[in-house]
Amino acid sequence: MGSTPSKPMSRSRRSFLQRSSLISFSVLALPGCVVSAGYNSANARHDGGYQLDDRMDSASQDSRVRTLVLHYTARPLDTSLEMLTQGQYQVSAHYLVPDQAINGDPFTIYQLVPETRRAWHAGVSYWQGDRMINASSIGIEIVNLGFPPEDESLPLMQRRWYNYPPAQMHAVARLMADIIARHDIKPHKIVGHADVAPGRKFDPGPLFPWHILFTQYQIGAWPDAEAVQHYQTHQSFSGDIRTLQAKLLAYGYDTPQSGLLDEATRHVIAAFQMHFRPAKYDGEPDVGTVAILDALLEKYVGRPRSQPMDRQPATHFPSTIDHQEKGSDIWPSPHGGR
Ligand SMILES: [Zn+2]
Repeated sequence: MGSTPSKPMSRSRRSFLQRSSLISFSVLALPGCVVSAGYNSANARHDGGYQLDDRMDSASQDSRVRTLVLHYTARPLDTSLEMLTQGQYQVSAHYLVPDQAINGDPFTIYQLVPETRRAWHAGVSYWQGDRMINASSIGIEIVNLGFPPEDESLPLMQRRWYNYPPAQMHAVARLMADIIARHDIKPHKIVGHADVAPGRKFDPGPLFPWHILFTQYQIGAWPDAEAVQHYQTHQSFSGDIRTLQAKLLAYGYDTPQSGLLDEATRHVIAAFQMHFRPAKYDGEPDVGTVAILDALLEKYVGRPRSQPMDRQPATHFPSTIDHQEKGSDIWPSPHGGR
């Protein structure tokens, strides 16, 4: 696989350090220099007008990548490669995973955009408070035809979706594990294109094996069966659409808060079901679907069972610690205190 975004201590950096210390020494030796001896004075003498001193890393930083988005290409490998690399299509992804091994083992995965750069894969999108998530996500395109073109006008559950071969899924899982580790991506920020663009996109489709990713590779979000059973039995969905919309929004979906089962809300429910309830993804809310959503909110968003959301007002995606913007109000006052 291609490059990783880790920060190597390169030979050029070491030689830079040696060079900069030499220059600093020469400045020290100049008579009458008003600039105090040190690194800044060395910078002015460098060819480009300045040079960077990157010897001191700040501890207060993290990856810009918050979300991992999976897609299917809806095209075979050769067409996918052309579209994802040629400029006229204006679309790309960080990685492209073929549907089968090309030259035997190991499985070849194409890296088309470095992880440090923005790939154009998600389009108009939203997840957990972030809009236009190309800037804050990694995109993986998986070669899979989706469904036959003649099924385009059929309801989602009547379309003939294509399977993902196990060897391809194994390669996808290993790639995902590496990306997740590099950027510390949280389980409920690992999503499909349909999750972040409900109604507009359906990939990676209802046959994408999210459950297998979770059970076999510990990747992504999945509800605990016991919790689903609890909600289904003791706090089951009563038809309250406004509360359901608030829950979907709280989990991360861009959901209207109208109280109406409108078309946009059905699209969100269908996207949720394709991800978490692949036996039924018709966009109709029911007890089973909402129990899964409740269990996910408890596990990943920290909603306690004792405080059902039915008594809480709808809020935008809150609130979890990892999403709070840091640094805006913690700069110490020059007069002491904060
Ligand atoms: Zn997509």
